Amino acid sequence: MSMEILFRWAEEEPYTIRTEVPVDPATLLEGGSELAEPPRVEAVLSRERDHYEVNGCLSAWIRIPCSRCLELFPVKISREIHMVLLPQPKSAPKEDIGLDDRDMNASFYSNERIVLEDIVSEHINLSLPMRPLCRPDCRGLCSGCGADLNRGTCMCRPSGPVN
Ligand SMILES: [Zn+2]
Ligand SMILES: [Zn+2]
Repeated sequence: MSMEILFRWAEEEPYTIRTEVPVDPATLLEGGSELAEPPRVEAVLSRERDHYEVNGCLSAWIRIPCSRCLELFPVKISREIHMVLLPQPKSAPKEDIGLDDRDMNASFYSNERIVLEDIVSEHINLSLPMRPLCRPDCRGLCSGCGADLNRGTCMCRPSGPVN
């Protein structure tokens, strides 16, 4: 069951969202990622003149695989959320709508609701480093035997220190 926030809850006054959102790690771009703790969203859904907005922040601790040694390591995610939700245009193609001058991320809604898991997954994915490293000088895996070189040298590296 997904965590949905209906627009009508913000009809009278801004609706405060303050909750943990346990997303499915499979929706994160870094395969094999784990949630160290459930991501937390603190935001407000508000109705503007002709659209809705979500403003707030997301915080999460996730564990993602290092791009060199493949070990999981913790990454703190802390990201502001600024979303402009516009009604789906009836006919005009999306390209013709001048969104470029809008400061915030704009998207179209067709249902009168937002799904928190989708927002959280998207914002976590936007926050992930391109090439995650468990530490700046990670030595990675030996291309010969696959040993984790952070834990010492391996037999197929004669140039390393001899034990
Ligand atoms: Zn590493
Ligand atoms: Zn080796």
